[in-house]
Amino acid sequence: MIIDAHLHADCRPVEDFTNMNMAGVKAIVSCAYDPLEMKKSNVSFEHFDRIVFREEKRVQNEGIKYYCAVGVHPRAIPVDYKLVIEKLPEYLEKDNVIAIGEIGLEKADDIEQEVFIEQLKFADEYNQRVIVHTPRNNKKEVTDIITGLLDEHINPKLVQLDHVDFSIVDSLIDKEYSLGITVQPLKMSVKDTVKMLENYGFDRFILDSDISYAPSNPMSLPETKHELEKNSVNSSNIDKVMFKNVSKFYKLKL
Ligand SMILES: [Zn+2]
Repeated sequence: MIIDAHLHADCRPVEDFTNMNMAGVKAIVSCAYDPLEMKKSNVSFEHFDRIVFREEKRVQNEGIKYYCAVGVHPRAIPVDYKLVIEKLPEYLEKDNVIAIGEIGLEKADDIEQEVFIEQLKFADEYNQRVIVHTPRNNKKEVTDIITGLLDEHINPKLVQLDHVDFSIVDSLIDKEYSLGITVQPLKMSVKDTVKMLENYGFDRFILDSDISYAPSNPMSLPETKHELEKNSVNSSNIDKVMFKNVSKFYKLKL
């Protein structure tokens, strides 16, 4: 069994989910992001409505359990973003919404930090989990700002800190977050993912493909599982990173 802990179902064809199920992916978490220019809140709401109300059927028809997350992505901040944050509780009442995300910082300018902090405070107050994006550019510097804000504003046990790579893992391994490795062509390769798990252990990590409009590989988690098996990693460690750690984090009933 495999759970893909972060992807973007709304820009992927049904055929991806058919193939993923055949390769062992049995549940996914689809996150809000920046598929459109979110100039005003009405665009954000259209995006959230698609994620929460319309994608589930497409994915579950292929035999994959569908979970999702909504939140204001740092590259998708509408001018009236406060209206979006105000409406988050309504979305979080839905059974399939299990987190606020993806949120985080991209350039780490003032407005991004303001929106991120507001969502962290909200999540902490309502005891909601968050999926936190770390950027590709200036990754180490921006991640240091992110962890500073997380330490200040939210219970670390509510945090899935995502897109972890070798440039930031040392500063995160002693934190209490769940650490997400994104196995994707422009992020971590299958071989690097295996190397990181073998170096840092299997208890702290969850895996995701982040398939989206960017270069993506829907088979990246099945390929990682296969590579771990080839390297004779024991099955209880493989199960931890393939589904056990993430189902524990979200208290999923599978
Ligand atoms: Zn993403």
